[in-house]
Amino acid sequence: MTGNRLAFYCDFDGTIAERDMIGVLVRRFAPPEALDIVQDVNAKRRTVKDGVEAMFRMTAASVYPQMVEYVREHTVLRPGFAEFVERCRTAGWRLTVVSGGFDFFVVPALAPFADTVAVYCNRLVEENGHLQVVWRVPCDETCEGGCGLCKPAVIRRTRRPGERLVVVGDGVTDVKQAQLADFVFARDKLLAECQRLHLPHASFDTFYDILEHPWVSETEVR
Ligand SMILES: [Zn+2]
Repeated sequence: MTGNRLAFYCDFDGTIAERDMIGVLVRRFAPPEALDIVQDVNAKRRTVKDGVEAMFRMTAASVYPQMVEYVREHTVLRPGFAEFVERCRTAGWRLTVVSGGFDFFVVPALAPFADTVAVYCNRLVEENGHLQVVWRVPCDETCEGGCGLCKPAVIRRTRRPGERLVVVGDGVTDVKQAQLADFVFARDKLLAECQRLHLPHASFDTFYDILEHPWVSETEVR
């Protein structure tokens, strides 16, 4: 019997983490002009890839240790995430976290769940005194480009036959992967896009909402 195996592809910033930690970092450590770039990205005047690269290129590499310390202290996980991971583990459902964020806050936050969760995220390296983004999975030939870390490319690389794909996210960077999903749990800007594009979806505030939704609660285990 196929079709009972769920595979979750879950965003990190603003989804697992309550706040967008890239936004937190940019507001605290990047120069004020970086905020204009955030607006350009949200208005789609600039791609996510170009915008994020430009913001960190403006940021002195010397603040990197402070960034690491600050963001680790300020990452708060959304309620119910630990229970959600446990349900995935016992049910044998795959859970992949696909983040446009960076290893120095995504990996420590997910360390308690490392035996269950696959993680795709990016890193920062120093280049000429500034910070350069190294994207873990660039756009593939199927994608129109500009993602930075290409979430639909991760799905195309890793999905398995017979699985039902569930995407969990909150932002404009989750739209392309949401369009590949059988069902979407959405918040914020992704919720508006799911409504606009008529994608099958439900809104959520906590991971308990996801666990209680029929798409999850009524899916038999194994
Ligand atoms: Zn892409």
